Amino acid sequence: MSFLEQEDSISWPSPAMTTSSERNPGKQGTEASRRTKQEAVEAGELPSPGEGPQSKPAAESTGLEATFPKATPLAQAAPLARVDTPPTERDILPPDYAASAVGSSTDDLDLGIEFSATAAWGCELGLVEERPARCPSPKDLLPRLGWDDELRKPGAQVYMHFMQEHTCYDAMATSSKLVIFDTMLQIKKAFFALVANGVRAAPLWDSKKQTFVGMLTITDFILVLHRYYRSPLVQIYEIEEHKIETWREIYLQGCFKPLVSISPNDRLPQAHCSHLHSLFDAVYTLIKNRIHRLPVLDPVSGAVLHILTHKRLLKFLHIFGTLLPPPSFLSRTIQDLGIGTFRDLAVVLETAPILTALDIFVDRRVSALPVVNEAGRVVGLYSRFDVIHLAAQQTYNHLDMSVGEALRQRTVCLEGVLSCQPHESLGEVIDRIAREQVHRLVLVDETQHLLGVVSLSDILQALVLSPAGIDALGA
Ligand code: ADP
Ligand code: ADP
Ligand code: AMP
Repeated sequence: MSFLEQEDSISWPSPAMTTSSERNPGKQGTEASRRTKQEAVEAGELPSPGEGPQSKPAAESTGLEATFPKATPLAQAAPLARVDTPPTERDILPPDYAASAVGSSTDDLDLGIEFSATAAWGCELGLVEERPARCPSPKDLLPRLGWDDELRKPGAQVYMHFMQEHTCYDAMATSSKLVIFDTMLQIKKAFFALVANGVRAAPLWDSKKQTFVGMLTITDFILVLHRYYRSPLVQIYEIEEHKIETWREIYLQGCFKPLVSISPNDRLPQAHCSHLHSLFDAVYTLIKNRIHRLPVLDPVSGAVLHILTHKRLLKFLHIFGTLLPPPSFLSRTIQDLGIGTFRDLAVVLETAPILTALDIFVDRRVSALPVVNEAGRVVGLYSRFDVIHLAAQQTYNHLDMSVGEALRQRTVCLEGVLSCQPHESLGEVIDRIAREQVHRLVLVDETQHLLGVVSLSDILQALVLSPAGIDALGA
């Protein structure tokens, strides 16, 4: 039985359920037969000319399906926003990773993937400046207040408005796999089930309360290992025996964080209209709560319809952003705009044990660690996602293995690091991060020394929230 076929009262017959989550119009309409915006996002392509901004897709008639972006030149009409804490106020300084060179420090220091976007943002729009590549001196890396100036220009709010005008429903997949765990499931089985189903996170269903109570993500796997691992010789019996519910009780100690979720759209009964629903709200909610998985819940049935991520939101903006007037900041350099994190970077030495990387993930709450060699050069990237391979290979008892070795053992082998340099334009960086489908690029100089991290959180904060005067990342 499909999860979405179920009505308001849901009870799960088995602790772990894999469902093929299709956007089910249910009471609210019929599934559109032609290609929608969501499908275009999935295919990584723009709508065909016939499906351009002015055309009215059949989907509109359902009241739920996507409408294509309006051709209104939003930016021109937009009032200028005051930005209290613009990202340019952060200094761009070379990192000090002396401590990490000692071995297992918690200091930090970057990576890359791909899809066939039909339009390269900056390049196709003729925005990318040709600049000679060179190694920047520390003086070159000082911010030049470029971002403040850019935010005052007409057109700076174009992506903010676009995201405000579109609902979560617009960015949802037409069909995707959704795995749900009952909190009575053993945590070991849950993490194995994430791997077996090729998903990164699962909503948690409490059958006593008959509601979703949280998410299980790879970060939780890291937290469990971090808490219970002792040595390669001691079995982590808590992983073998604990139920998700037990782990949550021990770890959260009564301070249960409620599930952070969002509604698909505003075409809902009056009583539910207060739910956040725009893509702007989704970006804000993800960044503000420092989470990477945002379930879209049907406020009527309580069903999980989709799990939104920064990647999905950036992909949506990247594809449909080409239909909007390009803001001038896309052609400015990362160095000028100061978008990203450039100081106090969390890094790990390639020779350090995985346990050290886990300590850093827990202490610093960062999503990935640039991996550096003894010479301080970036040689890889170890992300929270990579930790799940320990479950896949049942090697979670070998946390003394080096990070370098763990990267070599990754089943999906990504060669090297996906990076960018300070002289590259924001448009180029966005094109690369969207094409490679990674959560961040590592900012390096020409000798591969670490300068910073440019994450999807930084980019979405800058494109969508900063123009509204909101600093959810720094708050
Ligand atoms: P998630 O979808 O969970 O956010 P990530 O993008 O963090 O996943 O990671 C997915 C895979 O891509 C991981 O194997 C990770 O090591 C790799 N990866 C992510 N960013 C980079 C990068 N900048 N350079 C090289 N590999 C990367
Ligand atoms: P990851 O990057 O490993 O996917 P997240 O950053 O999304 O993990 O999760 C960080 C922590 O917040 C985890 O303990 C996870 O269970 C929790 N979490 C993630 N998403 C949500 C959510 N939507 N509501 C409540 N808690 C969440
Ligand atoms: P993320 O968790 O990647 O979504 O990023 C949240 C914030 O943490 C962003 O401002 C990133 O630039 C920053 N960040 C990500 N990775 C690191 C790291 N290794 N060291 C320091 N900051 C980081």
